[in-house]
Amino acid sequence: MKEVTVIFKHFPDKETIIEILSYNNFFKRVFGFIKNNKILMRISSLCLIGMMAVGVSIVSVGITLGLKVNYAGAFIATVKNSGVFDDAKDIAVDHIESSNADKVIETPKFSMTLTVSDRLDSAVKVADAIIENTSDITEASALIVNGEYLLCAQTADLENQLESRRTGFEIEGAENASEFTDDIKVENGYYLKSEISDSEEITAAVNRLDVKTVSVITTDSEIPFTKKTVKTSEQLIGYSKVTTAGQNGITRKTESVESVNGTEISRTELSSEVVKEPVQQVTTVGTAISTASAAQRSAERSAGFICPLKRGSFVVTSYYGDGRNHKGIDLGASAGTSIYAVANGTVTYAGYDGDYGYSVVVDHGNGLKTRYAHARALCVSRGQTVSQGDVVAYVGSTGYSTGNHLHFEVIVNGARVNPVSYIGLD
Ligand SMILES: [Zn+2]
Repeated sequence: MKEVTVIFKHFPDKETIIEILSYNNFFKRVFGFIKNNKILMRISSLCLIGMMAVGVSIVSVGITLGLKVNYAGAFIATVKNSGVFDDAKDIAVDHIESSNADKVIETPKFSMTLTVSDRLDSAVKVADAIIENTSDITEASALIVNGEYLLCAQTADLENQLESRRTGFEIEGAENASEFTDDIKVENGYYLKSEISDSEEITAAVNRLDVKTVSVITTDSEIPFTKKTVKTSEQLIGYSKVTTAGQNGITRKTESVESVNGTEISRTELSSEVVKEPVQQVTTVGTAISTASAAQRSAERSAGFICPLKRGSFVVTSYYGDGRNHKGIDLGASAGTSIYAVANGTVTYAGYDGDYGYSVVVDHGNGLKTRYAHARALCVSRGQTVSQGDVVAYVGSTGYSTGNHLHFEVIVNGARVNPVSYIGLD
């Protein structure tokens, strides 16, 4: 027996079916054979009755003729008639966000089949199957700007690009709030693949959208510390020491900065507070020309020294200790001014001595010595005995010196001490 498969574009009407059936060789032969055989006639009558009974029971359980729908190479549904497919197509077209939707829906192939009535598919279900099986239909999203369709694209791609654009002008470390100045909507649905925009097209469209960003930024700025000087008579002139280190303070300012596409359009100060007060730097400087006690100064004066330069012929240009570990006293005077031995003694050095230049050292006994330095010329020689008031040299600027002056030292048991009290300058 040859199986007959008839493929219809549309569901055939009743006459066509009867015609098709009557042309079927099998039925022709069976009917012919039965006609020519009486016994068979009877048997077939019984069979026919049986078959009718079966037919009645078939109808009663709901067996019916239907159409298998082959859509785009796949069996997608069984429908009652081709009208169901047409309805499904209309539903599908309504679901697709494109004016060209009807053009991408393919023509189905129908084939007749027996089925149970409650297995017939509804138009809504067929519409879903059409959408699923149409190669040019995809789930995607449309970008709607101020109510107007701009493009459709893969949802994730579109959403990612919109998010990058929206947050792209935020300031790192600030509290930011960003929004598009236009009304932006992303509408999910079915779209035609052929109408989907690629990444570059999305970028071009998204980059035309204006973004307003409000950033609350906090900035710290330094408050420079101030300085003050405190004088102390506890220390010698020239003493200078930072006794309290200065520290810059900090002002914290909070501002709201509004920008459009990264261009600042306004800035409002929200608050400003000093979070750290500056610490004033204190420098302590010495004012004393001698730190010795009154008793000690008196004892020093009692050494009986006279001043090595005549009173009124000099000015003190630098005291003992003065900033640079100065171990003597500098008496500024004109070149050639006479320098006197401050007490009787013996010259233990007279010559040129490095930084001292031309200098004289006189030993007064009892561990006391005096030095006279930077002289222009010397008047004594080593081993010579001098009396208080004898001229030992003349003021000059030899050795490590920047001007005419006498550098005078008092040396007690080898240590250079403050000369001021010895020569009455305290
Ligand atoms: Zn000096």
